[in-house]
Amino acid sequence: MITARDVIQKTRDRQKLTSSEISSFLRGYMSSQITDYHVAAWLMAVYLNGMSTDETLALTREMRDSGKVLDLSAIPGKKIDKHSTGGVGDKTSMMLAPIAAACGVTVPMITGRALGHTGGTLDKLESIPGFNPKPSPGKIIEILKSTGAAIMGQTDDLAPADRRIYALRDATATVESIPLITSSILSKKLAEGIDGLVMDVKTGSGAFMPTLKAATSLSRSIVDVCRAMKTKVVVLITDMEQPLGRAIGNALEIRECIEFLNGQTPEDLETVTIALAAHMIRLGGQARSLDHASKLAYQSVARGEAAQRFRKIIRAQGGDERVVDNPDLLPRAANTTGFRAKTSGFVTRCDAKFLGLASNALGAGRHRVEDHVDLAVGIYLDKKLGDRVVKGEVLCRIHWNDERRFTGAVPLIEQAYQIESKPPRRRSLIHAVLKGQG
Ligand code: URA
Repeated sequence: MITARDVIQKTRDRQKLTSSEISSFLRGYMSSQITDYHVAAWLMAVYLNGMSTDETLALTREMRDSGKVLDLSAIPGKKIDKHSTGGVGDKTSMMLAPIAAACGVTVPMITGRALGHTGGTLDKLESIPGFNPKPSPGKIIEILKSTGAAIMGQTDDLAPADRRIYALRDATATVESIPLITSSILSKKLAEGIDGLVMDVKTGSGAFMPTLKAATSLSRSIVDVCRAMKTKVVVLITDMEQPLGRAIGNALEIRECIEFLNGQTPEDLETVTIALAAHMIRLGGQARSLDHASKLAYQSVARGEAAQRFRKIIRAQGGDERVVDNPDLLPRAANTTGFRAKTSGFVTRCDAKFLGLASNALGAGRHRVEDHVDLAVGIYLDKKLGDRVVKGEVLCRIHWNDERRFTGAVPLIEQAYQIESKPPRRRSLIHAVLKGQG
């Protein structure tokens, strides 16, 4: 049998591991026969030398099978999830689940918390009074049957190998590796027992993969593994140079989602949400074509069906559904201050990363997993890339509770915005779409 040392040496020397070698290495780690230092050394070898698709596939499968795989066969129809690599103001999940469910797709959506400069869907949902992000397994099936969608946090028994390996990657500067990211994301998604996945891989300053080249490599790797796992997948590479929509921060983003479902929408948010929804509806077998799927998604919003579905999902998960009609029931910050333009011209920078960091500085996110999150604070963008502004006009509104935090956020907002005499070149919202048939 191959030893841990042999596994490390093979990857170090760019030799391919077989799937049974990867399997015995991972199993040895999960049963404590192989130590953190072995795995840490191997992760660095993978980081430096990469892995083949077959190796990534074997790692993904082994990590998925390190815990429980949900059995949703009791629920008829196709089960489709969506996952984003994370961004600033990225609130599409809360709209996609009700839209896709209203169009007949079942959506078992497992989602995460804020970390770094990006927000987390789970924190955002917790700004709805009473919302329970961790229903029991039995309750999840009941919610999926009655509402068509459940939005929930990851349980400890879902891909536990990923949690342990991710902590090691974080500690050893090996997070930014395409095969490791692929296996980390897909092991959790494939443990949900889904038939298909729509991935939103973000690119731009506020994204995990800032360059289009890196985002494309990750997307290809995800498609290759899903294809081999016979799971249908569509990957959209979407822009995260500036935040999506206008709201950043938990309750502010829920408010924007509700406005969207009630028919009021910033254009960029609508474009990305409807595109993702259409792919979910198409993968879920509820439309003849992508055009048809887009039409169904629009109709579900226009007819109020998606808003009605959101009410149902909130109620089923113990939340106060009245927020859909009265967003003033969401937490609100004690103070709002306008951040004003110092010159006239066009907005040429509205940097997602700095605005995400500023929102975090206000208390909307966390630096460490155990940090407390202030659900009410954040930033509302009155002006975005390409907008004309006059000196003294409000660029964004800062919603804050703590003066020290407010003072810490302002310089970051100053760095986020730039105003010049000429408008910037327009960036695409959707850079590419990659498909795998599974
Ligand atoms: N998200 C994940 O779940 N895993 C990674 O490795 C990176 C982003």
